[in-house]
Amino acid sequence: MITEIMQGLGITLKHLFRKPSTVQYPDEKLKLPDRYRAIHGLRRYEDGLERCVCCGLCAVACPADAIYMEAAENTETDRHSHGERYAMRYQIHMYRCIFCGFCEEACPEDAIYLTKDTLGVVTDRNQMVWDKESILKHGQIFPKKPGVPVDPPPKTENVH
Ligand code: SF4
Ligand code: SF4
Repeated sequence: MITEIMQGLGITLKHLFRKPSTVQYPDEKLKLPDRYRAIHGLRRYEDGLERCVCCGLCAVACPADAIYMEAAENTETDRHSHGERYAMRYQIHMYRCIFCGFCEEACPEDAIYLTKDTLGVVTDRNQMVWDKESILKHGQIFPKKPGVPVDPPPKTENVH
């Protein structure tokens, strides 16, 4: 009995002087591994147009059926992307997402990607359905792929 108590105290003492494995979040943040994947972002081109052309490949690749989109045609006066179409609606249902990254792998435009930002606290299930504007906010302007010619878009005030 005494031996077991001494063993238990020994383990407690050993851990008392160890470097803690926790951090004082949010003042202190963990250095995340390079391949860490968290919430999504949608990228834009440097000219502000969206990289997403609403091809649907990310939704097809998603094993959790978490991505929903509706396409619309770009016009001369209302252009959102360099392609013929753009995502009029683009949603990620985050309560379904398993952060596998297949959507990022499938995207031919390098539009959708997983950032290192973590999901905040939500109090309503509807807040877990992210719309295009929220996802674009996490994205970044990203130069187009080298060697892929892209004509400059017509000037419009309706670029989102
Ligand atoms: S990370 Fe995986 S589960 Fe989440 S939206 Fe992308 S493909 Fe779907
Ligand atoms: S994010 Fe990429 S794969 Fe998904 S619809 Fe847009 S262009 Fe296609």
